[in-house]
Amino acid sequence: MIIKGKELSVSIKDALKVRVSVLNDQYGRTPNLVVILVGDDPGSVSYVTGKAKAATEVGIRNTTIRREATITESELLELVDELNNDDDVDGILVQLPLPKHIDENKVIAAISPEKDVDAFHPMNVAKLWLKQPCILPCTPKGIIKLLHFAGVDIAGKEAVVIGRSNIVGQPVAKLLLDANATVTVAHSKTKNLAEVARRADILVVAVGRERFVTADMIKPGAVVIDVGVNRDSRNGKLCGDVDFEEAQNVAAAITPVPGGVGPMTITCLMENTVEVFVNRMNKK
Ligand code: NAP
Repeated sequence: MIIKGKELSVSIKDALKVRVSVLNDQYGRTPNLVVILVGDDPGSVSYVTGKAKAATEVGIRNTTIRREATITESELLELVDELNNDDDVDGILVQLPLPKHIDENKVIAAISPEKDVDAFHPMNVAKLWLKQPCILPCTPKGIIKLLHFAGVDIAGKEAVVIGRSNIVGQPVAKLLLDANATVTVAHSKTKNLAEVARRADILVVAVGRERFVTADMIKPGAVVIDVGVNRDSRNGKLCGDVDFEEAQNVAAAITPVPGGVGPMTITCLMENTVEVFVNRMNKK
């Protein structure tokens, strides 16, 4: 089975569109998302364009504020502060990566946790690990939704996550653990990676290297979630971390790239924007 993230994301966005219009009737305005894009990295420009398009589709007001890559850290912090204090702004997202002269951690920590739609703020990360109600990071949240969509019962399953980044590997491991999987997190220092991966009923791959996971690393009948976004060195097309052609013959279900995790990440960002909006409205 191919797990069609694009299909799921369309149905979630359709439901969100209705919800946003109901919220508009209820509160007299729609959620407002502001994205800050520093510099002109083509990858970042394309991600930000995708986010703006999705927001418009579901009726979320959205603005992309573009700044030159030469912006100073204090100027960027000032901009974040302005948005924190703007009552009409519900969600703030600073597109990463930032230029090297800017401390990303400082900028993320400057975003009001209430407006932190990416859920990267230390306060929101802490809440996730303490299992307190919180905004969930978009890619891990999307992955869990994809598993539910594919009818996977996560409880009691062996889950292996390859990759331990703050934005994907670690939080998805935590969400799988919360769903009662037995979780192993593998990384660049893991010994016998193929053997570890082959234990997985659910294999999540977030490494960033094309064809990194080959069919021999997959247990027959496993569910494979490919988070990677790479350029295929053979044809320049978008591809994941898993050798899809081979893997689909071994796995019971697998996400494609493109059309798997990517659209769900953006859709979960839309959900988060609605969630922070509702939280803010209910606080008033
Ligand atoms: P990252 O911060 O670069 O982390 C990569 C992880 O892979 C690290 O934990 C690293 O281990 C591990 N790794 C590297 N080489 C390895 C090896 N030989 N064996 C085992 N593990 C290895 O990347 P990321 O931000 O998590 O992103 C991963 C991929 O997902 C990228 O392609 C990115 O573009 C994509 N992505 C997609 C979405 C989406 O929505 N589709 C969202 C976010 C990211 P160490 O910790 O030991 O270095």
